[in-house]
Amino acid sequence: MRYDTAIIGTGPAGLEAAITLTIRKKNIILIGKKNSSNKVRSAEKIDNYLGIPSVSGDDLAQKMLDHAASMGVEITDGRVTLIYPYGEYFGIQCGEDMIEASSVILATGVAPANTLPGENEFLGRGVSYCATCDAAMYKGKNAVVVSYSKDYEEEAIFLKKYASGVIYIPMYEFGEGKDAEEIMAADSGITVLKQKPAEIKGGFKADTLITDQDTLKTDGIFILRDQISAASLVPGLETEGGTVKCRRDMSTSVPGLYAAGDIAGAPYQLIKAAGEGLTAALSVVKYLNEKK
Ligand SMILES: Cc1cc2nc3c(=O)[nH]c(=O)nc-3n(C[C@H](O)[C@H](O)[C@H](O)COP(=O)(O)OP(=O)(O)OC[C@H]3O[C@@H](n4cnc5c(N)ncnc54)[C@H](O)[C@@H]3O)c2cc1C
Repeated sequence: MRYDTAIIGTGPAGLEAAITLTIRKKNIILIGKKNSSNKVRSAEKIDNYLGIPSVSGDDLAQKMLDHAASMGVEITDGRVTLIYPYGEYFGIQCGEDMIEASSVILATGVAPANTLPGENEFLGRGVSYCATCDAAMYKGKNAVVVSYSKDYEEEAIFLKKYASGVIYIPMYEFGEGKDAEEIMAADSGITVLKQKPAEIKGGFKADTLITDQDTLKTDGIFILRDQISAASLVPGLETEGGTVKCRRDMSTSVPGLYAAGDIAGAPYQLIKAAGEGLTAALSVVKYLNEKK
């Protein structure tokens, strides 16, 4: 099945795009977190969202989710790791699934400012953003997982079903001290190392992760974080300072691919994100009509 549009991200930009395209009767898939956006939820009090003064981030996120649900918008819980522009359509890698869509709206928020030295250079050559996608290739091999969220512990455990050795480096407050490490090791055979990754090295392929305490030799390095830079997500996409270069209609350098919200550049504000979600959606409608 090929969707008219895949919307990536469930913050205000993605949700608004999904609502607009649903009103326009387009066949969409909205991929992201079911609870909307951690960024929205972390705002204590928001005073500049038109019509909803003095609202907490949690309340605003819930209102947005409820609004989208009331229009029939459904969220596919997942994380997109790669978008392949094939010309006629896009292939969207989400976990183990490859989703097809005629157009894409990127609404993934601001990407991380700091990637690890060597991360971009070795991406696709020993560095991967998706452990569930590549796990089968690690049969009998060793891997290091650098994880930025508890959400990815399951991905590491899945990888260990194939790999003979997995080192897990949590970049977040990991469990309750040593007990959690022992439980993870006992349940899944994963070694937890509380170290700070410094650099990825290798020849043609990445084969070493240097940390603040060790030099770890490995067959592959998985870097699991919520946000992936737009340039890594879409090969060939024009970016500038970490954001996507867009025209006023939110079109990008890749035909059929639109961007909205923080990923499309400053100002980083909620109402601007929602407005761009709407603009991108209407531009997609025009694009799809012209393609017919
Ligand atoms: C503490 C704080 C307070 C703020 N206060 C205000 C305020 O008072 N007023 C204001 O206007 N703005 C405020 N902002 C800014 C506002 O939150 C952002 O501008 C807004 O959330 C941007 O919306 P967005 O939809 O572009 O991206 P986001 O809200 O960042 O949402 C992006 C979503 O995409 C998901 N995603 C990312 N990558 C992928 C992927 N590869 N696959 C699937 N999903 C993915 C993310 O998990 C996230 O759910 C505040 C921000 C913070 C952090």
